[in-house]
Order: sequence, then structure tokens, then C-alpha cells
Amino acid sequence: MKSIDCYCCSGKTFDNCCRPILNGEGKASSAEQLMRSRYSAFATQKSDYLIETTHFSTRKNHSEEDLLDWSRTNKWIKLEVINATATTIEFKAFYEDELKTALIHHEFSIFKEEDKIWYYVDGRFM
Ligand SMILES: [Zn+2]
Repeated sequence: MKSIDCYCCSGKTFDNCCRPILNGEGKASSAEQLMRSRYSAFATQKSDYLIETTHFSTRKNHSEEDLLDWSRTNKWIKLEVINATATTIEFKAFYEDELKTALIHHEFSIFKEEDKIWYYVDGRFM
């Protein structure tokens, strides 16, 4: 099978980037890697991964059904990381909704590492 470019626009192939993280062979080693893998999870409709990687303190705010719905109705075009620190990422996710309207989801996200596992805690839409 031909290797495809990773959905997260890292410049690496999917096999060498987000795929092993999404299928549990590897773990995200930084907030940015987790954020990128979560974008790829949207692009590949892996809502279980999105829930798993949400910190337990904020998990109740998200429903797997809604995430799946949101990931399916939109077409994920590209990801742009604007600014990254050890625990925060500002990014833009470019997508098209079901009416093919081009939209940008601009978010400032907070991440937390616990027992060597990175979690998405919260985000502020910009
Ligand atoms: Zn990737």
C-alpha cells in the first residue's frame, strides 16, 4: 500500500507520524504530538481516541457521539500549528462543512501530562 502524507501536515507519512499513536502502538511524547494525533483522529473519525485522550477532569464535557458527528460531517483539509509551548498549542484547523463552506477552527488548547501520558484538558476558541 502506498504511504500517504499524514493528515496533521507534519510532512511525515501517516505511518511514521500519527497512525501508530492512533492505533495504540505508540504514545504521543509531547503536547504538540498529541494535538496533531487528535487532528488526525478527526480526519479518520476515531472518536474513541478523542475521548481517551481528553483529561478525566473535562471528559464529561464531551460526548463521543458529538465528536463522531463533528468529525464525519466535516471534511478536514489541513492543520496549521501557530504557536506551541510545552503545555499549550494554538492552532488552526481548516475544514469544509457539509455545504462545502470553507471554515477555520482556531483554538488555543491546554494539555497536561500525567504518568507520562499526554491529555487534552481544555480549549478556548479564538
Ligand atoms: Zn501526523
